[in-house]
Amino acid sequence: MNFIKLTLKAAFVIIISACNQNKYTPKLDLAAAPEQREFANFTQQKINDNLYVLKANNYNTNVGVFIGNKGILLIDPMFGFNTESHKQLVEAVKTLSNLPITHVLNTHSHADHSGANAFFAELGATIISQNNAIYTKTFTDQTFKDTYSISMDDETITLYHLPAHTFDDVLIHFAKNNAVFMGDTFMTNSFPHFYYGGGSKGHLNFMEKTLKLSNAQTTIVPAHGSLTTTKAALQDYKAHSIDWSRRILELHQKGQTPKEMANDTQLLTLSDYFNNGKVSSDRLTQTLEKTLSVERISSITLSEPIILNLTGIYKASNGNVFEVDFIENNIYFKSKGNFMYQLLPLSENEFIIKGQVPEKQVLFTTDMPKQLIYNDGKSRMEARKIN
Ligand SMILES: [Zn+2]
Repeated sequence: MNFIKLTLKAAFVIIISACNQNKYTPKLDLAAAPEQREFANFTQQKINDNLYVLKANNYNTNVGVFIGNKGILLIDPMFGFNTESHKQLVEAVKTLSNLPITHVLNTHSHADHSGANAFFAELGATIISQNNAIYTKTFTDQTFKDTYSISMDDETITLYHLPAHTFDDVLIHFAKNNAVFMGDTFMTNSFPHFYYGGGSKGHLNFMEKTLKLSNAQTTIVPAHGSLTTTKAALQDYKAHSIDWSRRILELHQKGQTPKEMANDTQLLTLSDYFNNGKVSSDRLTQTLEKTLSVERISSITLSEPIILNLTGIYKASNGNVFEVDFIENNIYFKSKGNFMYQLLPLSENEFIIKGQVPEKQVLFTTDMPKQLIYNDGKSRMEARKIN
């Protein structure tokens, strides 16, 4: 059976804020806080005596360092993709404390955050991620579903699962230190990221949860860009994110293509705000394409019995195992150690993959034995239902 080329006459679901016709205020000053120091290959910012943010000068991911009485907890301790740079990070941490690294937390599974997990596990650290990380290539040894709390001395560190940028996003809150680590749901040097996990709605939920946990003194740690920033800066970013989503929706409804949208004055002004200046028209177009591939959804809604008939485990002849799941009204297509996608129905048996439109498709056969055919954009794989 062949996949037909699919035209999407899709609805565009996005967060609309009715009254936010704001003129774009200049970005708040995100300049370094006074307690910042440069050493070796790193910039370091102190939040408190026991909480720091480190960033390697040649790598753009913020790393959190919490120093307990008995051990050290790291957040997203990945910089560089080789053990040499991991060792440099260990050395940098040693300038703060000689205690062992006992815990590693990931804000999400992308390699620039979690790529050093196995390295730190070997040093004896427990790696904690959200459960959906098992459907990625990341190494993890302890997972949780909704929330997870760690008590270290008099600090309570709470992890909240809120899908936005990925399916395994985690917001990390330090109660006593009054600090929040947001991962890639907040970057001070880039567009609102491509939110295939929760769409723009998930992005908004994540920001709102962070704002709820924060006050004027809270230290907000974005994943990329400045080491730390403030609640006010996040509020500003949130307002611009809402405008960004709304404008894309407006232009999409007028029938504009991403290329055409890339010339829109409002989107260009927002792009300057997010990126601290101009980016190439190609990069803007690509971001708009990706955003549309997440926000644009099929107009078809399937009844629950039809969906439940498709859920289960499928096995391909090469041994690959796929899971089709129905959770909170969403259909997921998963493969352990590999991927997790959300399926969007175009008919009772044809599905596209949110954020991967139109290359990747899944087709279910109607005859017995039940099978699925997965087209990953390069090849097609058949898998038979085994459970
Ligand atoms: Zn990421």
